[in-house]
Amino acid sequence: MTGAGWLAADSLWWDGRLHTGGALELRDGVVTGMAAEPGAGPLRRLSGTLLPGLCDFHVHSALVDLGAVRAGGIAAVWDLGGVPAEVTALRDRAAGPGSGLPRMTVAGPFLTAPGGYPSDRSWAPPGSWREVHSAADATEAVGECHAAGSELIKVTAHTGGPTLPGPVLAAVVAAAHAAGLRVVVHAEGSGTVEAAVDARADLLAHTPWTERIDDGALRAAAGQGMGWISTLDIHGWGRPSPELGAAVDNLRRFLGYGGSVRYGTDLGNGPLVPGVNAREIRALQRAGLTPEDVLAAMTVDAGDLPPTWIADGLDLDGARFADVLATARVVDAEPPPG
Ligand SMILES: [Zn+2]
Repeated sequence: MTGAGWLAADSLWWDGRLHTGGALELRDGVVTGMAAEPGAGPLRRLSGTLLPGLCDFHVHSALVDLGAVRAGGIAAVWDLGGVPAEVTALRDRAAGPGSGLPRMTVAGPFLTAPGGYPSDRSWAPPGSWREVHSAADATEAVGECHAAGSELIKVTAHTGGPTLPGPVLAAVVAAAHAAGLRVVVHAEGSGTVEAAVDARADLLAHTPWTERIDDGALRAAAGQGMGWISTLDIHGWGRPSPELGAAVDNLRRFLGYGGSVRYGTDLGNGPLVPGVNAREIRALQRAGLTPEDVLAAMTVDAGDLPPTWIADGLDLDGARFADVLATARVVDAEPPPG
């Protein structure tokens, strides 16, 4: 739908609740608002439920078919680590009309200690990480990322290799915040969550899974407004595992202290579902999220996106919710027949 128009359905999920009837206002295929009745302009009517665009806040676009991800119901993604020129070029292509790709927000390279994760991993191509040598170099590195088009800063704290000293990690965060960028930390191993909290990072790329996080650290993280990106399904891909159990327990307790969570899957890491992942959603439910909470976690700052459509209607019953949401589809510029 080019220009302005309206899309109506049997029901709408909007502002955290299900409305019967109503319509979304679209401009160039993107939702600009909701009204009880369609206003002036062309109108399409669909059966089922319309929702804001659903987001996956953790993917690696070089390792996954983003067209399949969008075809599977995801309207926007955060790319949390890749070669800057490649991810920004893909982001610009994805933003074009009819690209068939989800809208992208990109971090650019992993910032890491010299020799640190993921510079030692076969899946990380040269250019996808940038070593940080000092606090002054942290400022430089963030400046390079910003100039290259990064909208987020990704930094790693992984005890399987060298990690950045606290003052250097703090310098990354300070430089990012001065540039108006949020910082996402890959925290893996003992003490790394605490290091991210001490540095006042904004987000963790994964729910911590390597150990039980102390309540003090959880309270501090929640108290300073840190968010966690869920990525629960990377542990076992549907089979129970100690790592999944630890992550679900940490997330449940973090939420208990008022922490916030965003839906993210780490697409590109193992045999994950391209598109809305029902297993990730069920794991979030096991951590205590209601269906309403899951939708909130998938639509944080979901501005400027095409709407999503569930042909048979949203089902907020906890037992059916995940499978029904996995049938969600992004509404293309030409809406599907209702
Ligand atoms: Zn990742």
